[in-house]
Amino acid sequence: MSIPQEASPPTDYDPYYDPLVTDGPGVNRAYAPTYWISTAGPAPEDDGPIRRDIDVDVAIIGSGYTGLTCAIFLAREFGIKAAVIEANHTAWGCSTRNGGQGQNAAGRLTRSQWIARWGRDTALRMHSEITEGFETFEELTRQVDCEPQRGGHLYIAHRQRNFDKIAAESKVLNEIFKYRTRIVALNELRSDYVDDAEAVGAVLEPLGTGIHPAKLAFGYHRMARQFGARIHTSSPVEHIEAYPGGFLLRTPGGTVRARKVAIATGAYTAKGLTHVLRGRYMPILSNSMVTRPLTEAELCAAGFKTRIVITDTRTLRFYYRLLPDNRIQIGSRSAVTGAEAAEPRHLQLLIDGLHRKFPMLRGIAIDYSWWGWVDVSHDMMPRIFQPDPEQPLFYALGFGGNGVSYSAQAGRRMAQMVAGRPFAAQDLPIFTSPLPGHPFAPFRRLGQRLLYRWYHARDEAA
Ligand SMILES: Cc1cc2nc3c(=O)[nH]c(=O)nc-3n(C[C@H](O)[C@H](O)[C@H](O)COP(=O)(O)OP(=O)(O)OC[C@H]3O[C@@H](n4cnc5c(N)ncnc54)[C@H](O)[C@@H]3O)c2cc1C
Repeated sequence: MSIPQEASPPTDYDPYYDPLVTDGPGVNRAYAPTYWISTAGPAPEDDGPIRRDIDVDVAIIGSGYTGLTCAIFLAREFGIKAAVIEANHTAWGCSTRNGGQGQNAAGRLTRSQWIARWGRDTALRMHSEITEGFETFEELTRQVDCEPQRGGHLYIAHRQRNFDKIAAESKVLNEIFKYRTRIVALNELRSDYVDDAEAVGAVLEPLGTGIHPAKLAFGYHRMARQFGARIHTSSPVEHIEAYPGGFLLRTPGGTVRARKVAIATGAYTAKGLTHVLRGRYMPILSNSMVTRPLTEAELCAAGFKTRIVITDTRTLRFYYRLLPDNRIQIGSRSAVTGAEAAEPRHLQLLIDGLHRKFPMLRGIAIDYSWWGWVDVSHDMMPRIFQPDPEQPLFYALGFGGNGVSYSAQAGRRMAQMVAGRPFAAQDLPIFTSPLPGHPFAPFRRLGQRLLYRWYHARDEAA
């Protein structure tokens, strides 16, 4: 059994990593080559790898936003100093690869779909929970240097039929949820926000904040350690095993004996980690790229007058924003498997998307491109859940590409559950039911390929 050394250099970044194929996210792997890691400064000091058998009260597996905020709230609210255990470097997964769009959302369903699924009362309470989550996220972003770009979220319709849909949803948000969204007509969009050549109109949501993902993650990390949590990197948990009085977590450097365990491994969860999550999440690749900084003339030609976060109405949506240094970051879906992730056609899809929106930027240099795995649940909503009331093991997973803001609340909720402190929203379905399985789990990727073709045809139809 090899024991990782604190000072050992990271092993290469693995661009082909695929959670459904490889057993575990590796050990001590380099960060993905993101713009965020290039501009965040060095990763903060941590507590090094696990080098011997240790006993802890609470172990949190995974040091992304969810795991780190769980550690922050456990320490800050309940005085519980957890050990966070990370396979690679701090926030190595989605939390240093995302688009940085903090929205008033969690999962992939609209508020109308919540009503259809759970009825109006539960949908209204879900809205309160998600909005409280946005405030939890905002409170933390005010304490961390993470370059917040506040001002809301602009939802741009790329076809008239999509505009009709988001306008109808805006009415539901305003009238039922009392969430004051606003329709932005095309001329106002062009004069006051951005000249996206595909746009036919937009809806402006008042809540939405863009952040620098790695600076936020590193800030969470520092905060968790200041409150007394320990963060052990280069320590993949290979397996979780129950034993009387707690759990044994096997890592290459030693076994962690924990009274309670919180799992925050996102889409990077390995098949063999624990049976409670097997087949219950779908890792989906998302691509992102960042252009060189735009000149004043280019900014003017593209009509950029806003830096708020923007998404379009495709099912395979594009999300973009103007960064503080005048680069454009844009992302969308990617390959189906890790083996295909580096194929140039997936980056080309993003470049084509940028050109369609801003034809005057055709040929602009792309300085950064990367991808990462998003944790999508089979019913499109996350869960913060204790699978067995007799066993103090919890998970928070399934944010579906909308986890930048809600992961902070998920970390907080998981901390409350771990500490045994009930909260009023705890009877909501995202806390009372497990992530659902999938009846055809082995064939999901075949289904995904077919769905991508169908969505693409529908998204691009005139
Ligand atoms: C390209 C991309 C763009 C995105 N854009 C947005 C966006 O704009 N807005 C938005 O809201 N969301 C976005 N997301 C999603 C968002 O990033 C995530 O929802 C959020 O970061 C979730 O964080 P997490 O802590 O749950 O998981 P992660 O950040 O993925 O952290 C999980 C960690 O667990 C570790 N781990 C896994 N297994 C083990 C193990 N066995 N032992 C120890 N450690 C382990 C991993 O190494 C990883 O560091 C995007 C995601 C991607 C990939």
